[in-house]
Amino acid sequence: MADVRLSHVDKHYGEAQALFDISLDIKDGEFVVFVGPSGCGKSTLLRSIAGLEGISSGTIMIGADDVTHTAPSDRGVAMVFQSYALYPHMSVRENMEFGMKINGVGRKDRAARVAEAARVLQLEPYLNRKPAHLSGGQRQRVAIGRAIVKEPKVFLFDEPLSNLDAKLRIQMRVELEALHAKLGATMIYVTHDQVEAMTMADTIVVLNQGRIEQVGAPMELYHRPRTRFVADFIGAPAMNFLKIRTEGGAVRYGAGTVGGPAAAPEGAVTLGIRPEHIELTAPGGGAFDARVEVKEALGGESYLYATAPEGERIVVKTAGDDPTHHGDVVGLKLPAGRIHLFGADGTNLSLA
Ligand code: ADP
Repeated sequence: MADVRLSHVDKHYGEAQALFDISLDIKDGEFVVFVGPSGCGKSTLLRSIAGLEGISSGTIMIGADDVTHTAPSDRGVAMVFQSYALYPHMSVRENMEFGMKINGVGRKDRAARVAEAARVLQLEPYLNRKPAHLSGGQRQRVAIGRAIVKEPKVFLFDEPLSNLDAKLRIQMRVELEALHAKLGATMIYVTHDQVEAMTMADTIVVLNQGRIEQVGAPMELYHRPRTRFVADFIGAPAMNFLKIRTEGGAVRYGAGTVGGPAAAPEGAVTLGIRPEHIELTAPGGGAFDARVEVKEALGGESYLYATAPEGERIVVKTAGDDPTHHGDVVGLKLPAGRIHLFGADGTNLSLA
């Protein structure tokens, strides 16, 4: 196990730059998730740590070693891919043993490591099966097993659950969290799915166009997003955004004033509020009224899709048994402590 330190990492693909000045400290035993939309550079960053991509400048340290120019096989990392990359003609046991054989690990040691990984991953009944005779979840567990037996300093996961159906994805997510707790290993995990990031990470790194947008614990990013980009990306359904004006410290929206912070920061142009933080009231009783266009009742909770006075779509989370119907006009209360105000450049101006 080891910490990982990136200093001023740049990566160019010819003319195009994929990573810009990435500096990041990952602690020993930490579960870190790189998250961001497609093309933001998260796979490039992970592959750079693995050594599968050379970087253009900067340094990468794993533990005490500068691995910037070290071959992937000598970095002490093990990577798990979305595609599993299992050998189809080998059994589960052989798939797990293969890398160790190449690296000259003795027979007894190999058997012990496979037995332990199979136990941890509940693969014992399948050790003699070929991958074709396993479910998607089992195949992904074999791919993880193959990483475990390498006894790496750092585990690297590249969207490992993307090929699984929704139910299995949730199950494997919980298994991975349990595995991290059991192994206490440093794990770096790439996903475009903010729910995976929120649920699994000790620390989330949000990437945007090759740059780090914000680093923090999941709830820190949820409550204190430094930019509109992070506010929009973290949380589901996404935060609502309304175009506002400020006048003498008051937040003006539509024809009225929205109760915001005591003094609205100069230069705020967008108000953000999460669907779960809006309160329903009778018409006229809130900051403004909105007409409900669609109601989605999910059982335990409902989502109202309404049209705000200046035409924006606004989503409100309510109770599962909320009686509001589509077509109803409701008042929406925006509690001052839940409001985020963003400047024209996307900076969250309401953070102290
Ligand atoms: P993500 O994993 O966040 O979807 P990537 O790291 O795959 O993003 O890609 C980041 C950027 O680098 C993208 O603009 C992508 O087009 C570019 N890129 C990735 N791999 C290559 C490559 N081999 N050659 C050229 N450009 C690449």
